[in-house]
Amino acid sequence: MAGTETILLYNFENSPKLRGLKIIFLKMGIRVRMVTPDMYLQTIGALAHIKGFEMTDQVYEGEAFSDEMMVMSGFSNARLDELLRQMRKNKIPRIHLKAIVTSHNASWTSLMLHGELNKEHEMMTRGPVMDAVVYKKEGEFALEQRKIPTIIHPLDAIVKVTLASICTSDLHIKHGAVPKAVPGIVVGHEMVGQIVQLGSGVKGLSVGDRVAVNVETFCGECYFCQKGFVNNCTDANGGWALGCRIDGGQAEYVRVPFAQNGLTKIPDPVTDEQAIFTGDLLSTGYWSAKISEIHKNDVVVVIGAGPTGICSMLCAGLYEPSQIIAIDRDESRLALVRDNQIAHVTINPSVSDPEQILREITDGRGADVVIEAAGGSDTFQMAWKIARPNAVVTVVALYEEDQVLPLPQMYGKNLTFKTGGVDACDCARILELIKEGKLDTTCLITHRFPLKDAMKAYELFENKEDHVMKVVLKP
Ligand SMILES: [Zn+2]
Ligand SMILES: [Zn+2]
Repeated sequence: MAGTETILLYNFENSPKLRGLKIIFLKMGIRVRMVTPDMYLQTIGALAHIKGFEMTDQVYEGEAFSDEMMVMSGFSNARLDELLRQMRKNKIPRIHLKAIVTSHNASWTSLMLHGELNKEHEMMTRGPVMDAVVYKKEGEFALEQRKIPTIIHPLDAIVKVTLASICTSDLHIKHGAVPKAVPGIVVGHEMVGQIVQLGSGVKGLSVGDRVAVNVETFCGECYFCQKGFVNNCTDANGGWALGCRIDGGQAEYVRVPFAQNGLTKIPDPVTDEQAIFTGDLLSTGYWSAKISEIHKNDVVVVIGAGPTGICSMLCAGLYEPSQIIAIDRDESRLALVRDNQIAHVTINPSVSDPEQILREITDGRGADVVIEAAGGSDTFQMAWKIARPNAVVTVVALYEEDQVLPLPQMYGKNLTFKTGGVDACDCARILELIKEGKLDTTCLITHRFPLKDAMKAYELFENKEDHVMKVVLKP
């Protein structure tokens, strides 16, 4: 499928020859825009520099160059053939199509239509390639030049990435620990950007919208999507596909399938850095707090003060618990939690016993809710032990090994366990909360790199240098 088919026309109304085309365009549902001579020349001039741009003077061969010209964008070859067939059938006189912009150039043309030519000029003169972080093979990522993605399905959008994050899951891919990850793909599944091109079937979004990209792509129509369990969407592109099974967003551009489900408009006052974690980390934190059945004045413990744990604490705070208690072995992480007043109490289990402190805080009962976001060798056992009878224990951590559920030991404690991966479908609500100042994750961004230096950024993140929490990449 091609993108939105558009024809730019110059000197159209004055040409009896071209006027006959109008009916054909209407019949074929092609969008027509009139342009001023200046804009026309600007468009042609800019396109002429693009490597790979198909400039064709003799498409419908015959006559000499004239002032009656068109620029076409978003057309597949098949549609172009259909158009030419219609012209022959209707005996439209032969004309020159001065320039044919095939689908891979359509995003640029869309931008031109929106008067954003200059911003894109640098990219255009470089040709239709971009920088991207690529999963080469187990143990190897590389910064490479890739073709700029194009619309391949009517529900796609192309997003110009303005900020992308590096996630621990990216390291799991690098280390071969994500069996579904496909070597050769562009990685990155948490980013924000601006829509530059939309498939013809996408509703509720426009070119130029600033958007947060959802980690999960989902169809919105299958059994699981209908129930809000989008993580288990049964579509081939459903679930975590971006930056795992299909090209992701540690790049200058990303193609997002099911765009109207996977993209959420960022409210105006919210900055890229405020919005960056909406689609993955904050979705996970929001989901973990939502399913944990937190009541007002509960004591909520979050094990793990990494990015996921901190987002869980922030979202747990929305339910007005009496106390949020953070547990982690890393003092610098606990310090970050204290400095930003994210939890009321911090416990380092290397220094003091969480079970004992919890008993003291809760009159011997234990925590009302425990969210386990650490995934350490002993943290699952800690989670159920510090929970009070009838508590909810939510496991969002990803373990490297099987865990033991010692049912005889916990008999009579009547715990409820919840597990799994995020159903990331609350992005609009999350962005509202960010806008209202109720969620602020900017303290998680400890390091910023240009996309060009992505390999340096990975080195720092992977080696946990300089107390790194989150790294963002700016294309
Ligand atoms: Zn992630
Ligand atoms: Zn689905």
